Amino acid sequence: MTKIAFIGLGNMGGPMAANLIKAGHDLTVYDLNKEVVQKAVEVGANSANSAVSALEGANIVISMLPNGSIVKSLFTGKNGLINHLGEDVLVIDSSTIAADDARFVAQACKANGISMVDAPVSGGTAAAIAGTLTFICGGESEDYEKAKPILEAMGKNIFHAGSSGAGQVAKICNNMLLAVHMIGTAEALNMGTRQGLDAGVLSEIMKASSGNNWSLQVYNPFPDVMPNVPSSNNYNGGFMVNLMSKDLGLAQELASKSKSPIPLGSAAAQLYELHKYNGKGDKDFSSILEMLKENT
Ligand code: NAD
Repeated sequence: MTKIAFIGLGNMGGPMAANLIKAGHDLTVYDLNKEVVQKAVEVGANSANSAVSALEGANIVISMLPNGSIVKSLFTGKNGLINHLGEDVLVIDSSTIAADDARFVAQACKANGISMVDAPVSGGTAAAIAGTLTFICGGESEDYEKAKPILEAMGKNIFHAGSSGAGQVAKICNNMLLAVHMIGTAEALNMGTRQGLDAGVLSEIMKASSGNNWSLQVYNPFPDVMPNVPSSNNYNGGFMVNLMSKDLGLAQELASKSKSPIPLGSAAAQLYELHKYNGKGDKDFSSILEMLKENT
């Protein structure tokens, strides 16, 4: 049994923590939101009053937080966690953040004798609940090998993308592609249904044809085509537009740095920004279909 401190129990972190408990690990959790802490306690976690106190006795620290500035401030800010961790502790950050931020925190950890792996995830909330996430890791091989058995309690596919920050680079490439195919799927479904087609029938046709993709397979953006997806729940839960917009901003930074043209990624970034400014930041990213529906 491993003693784990888990920080950040939102849409993803909550079910990930629950799966670690199911696998028999001893978890102490912390989140700014008391309600999600209470949910974790109900499935067997210990709660702490602060991130620092969650560390007591832990060999592993896992963070699942909204963005890079929060992750940096948690670990390296004033009274940051790196000042409270023993040298034998492994930090696993599963938040999606800039590769440079991940490297910055990893360097700061290393300077204090602490190992860190960036391990962002793909798969969405359904995979977080089912324990079938994909983990995309960056860091030293030895640290990746230490993290792997822990990650296996929450995921099905565990990859080592390369050195520190490489997990975040791969994750951002993936999420840019996700945004593009979600928007494309929403455009096709909106156009087809405006021509009188049934959204479910059109989805089945495209799934068996060359337009098949993950959004169609497991995350259909059209309401009531699929059960248990955000589009069938008024676009609540899932992966917020705010977070997709953040990821597309990270993609644009990566593109500038690597001088890579991303015309579709940039268009997707603009569309999600617009959707966010229309007050949809807290809705699931598949709600981009609603923006198309509003425009005739
Ligand atoms: P979320 O907003 O639902 O959860 C974030 C949690 O962090 C919240 O409970 C919040 O209270 C907590 N938090 C914020 N600041 C904190 C702090 N300083 N100390 C302690 N707790 C703090 O977000 P989410 O959907 O769970 O996403 C988390 C990360 O995973 C993000 O980086 C996101 O980009 C990434 N991600 C999300 C999905 C998805 O489908 N939702 C999929 C893959 C990756």
